[in-house]
Amino acid sequence: MTRTVGKDIATPTRTKEILEKYGFSFKKSLGQNFLIDTNILHNIIDAAELTKEKAAIEIGPGIGALTEQLGRAAGNVMAIEIDQRLLPILEETLAPYDNVEIVHGDVLKLNLKQLIADKLAGYQKVSVVANLPYYVTTPILMKLLEERLPLEHIVVMIQKEVADRIAAKPGTKDYGSLSVAAQFYAEAEVAMVVPASVFIPKPHVDSAVIKLTIREKPVVQVEDEDLFFRVVRACFAQRRKTLLNNLMSGLFAKDQKEEVIQLLGRVEIDPTRRGETLRIEEFARLANEVFRTKIIR
Ligand code: SAM
Repeated sequence: MTRTVGKDIATPTRTKEILEKYGFSFKKSLGQNFLIDTNILHNIIDAAELTKEKAAIEIGPGIGALTEQLGRAAGNVMAIEIDQRLLPILEETLAPYDNVEIVHGDVLKLNLKQLIADKLAGYQKVSVVANLPYYVTTPILMKLLEERLPLEHIVVMIQKEVADRIAAKPGTKDYGSLSVAAQFYAEAEVAMVVPASVFIPKPHVDSAVIKLTIREKPVVQVEDEDLFFRVVRACFAQRRKTLLNNLMSGLFAKDQKEEVIQLLGRVEIDPTRRGETLRIEEFARLANEVFRTKIIR
């Protein structure tokens, strides 16, 4: 892809220049680790498959390092930033991009469906592309997935450990309720692993870019989504326990043990298995049978 040659924000020199000009100090509590490597940004943009006919949502633009690349690659960009101190900086750094709009707020509190309808109307394809604040990675991802936003891809920099959990397969140590949730709504792949040296300040954990391609409909059919996720969470509650014991402590009363064993028999799942060995189809079968028999009191 050809790229506009400009004075990129994401270089150590330019970033320091901007930070010094505004006397900006990083707030650790807001997960502020800014990217200073344009190659990494180009790889993120390529993974997101953006074109001028598509729109992008960025969460946490910082001083605009990724935002300006999004402005070049996408038709329209909405960037949501919580830190008021960054607003005047962004106004200056993103001045050349009239297709970028900054929204001031906490992404976890905003009505994203409404914002997409208001600000990105006319775009068939919208993707979230971001270097996420690590202290809220999972709540942000769960919000993006659970609210069934009309998204094509979610391409985000996160802690490598969380990326591994999201993309994990059954029977592995990383497989858990986050892997099942991600798989329910999306296809997940780790697009790249990223060294700490591309950030300022350097984070204390390894990072990776995860690419989620949102499914048109969930990969399994479930009768009741809340119940499905309650069953999934219960099965993973204590990894050393059997599936039966986890289900009994999380969802059922003591005197229902026989009923639960029979239910597991009907869906052909061995009660002595561990939760981490179940495939998503098995979780769905189990949850649908719990729903059908209404045995939760
Ligand atoms: N995109 C920039 C970059 O890559 O250089 C900055 C990324 S930095 C890891 C995370 C950004 O998210 C910061 O600018 C921080 O202020 C912002 N942020 C933190 N919590 C947020 C929240 N709840 N809602 C919106 N933005 C948030």
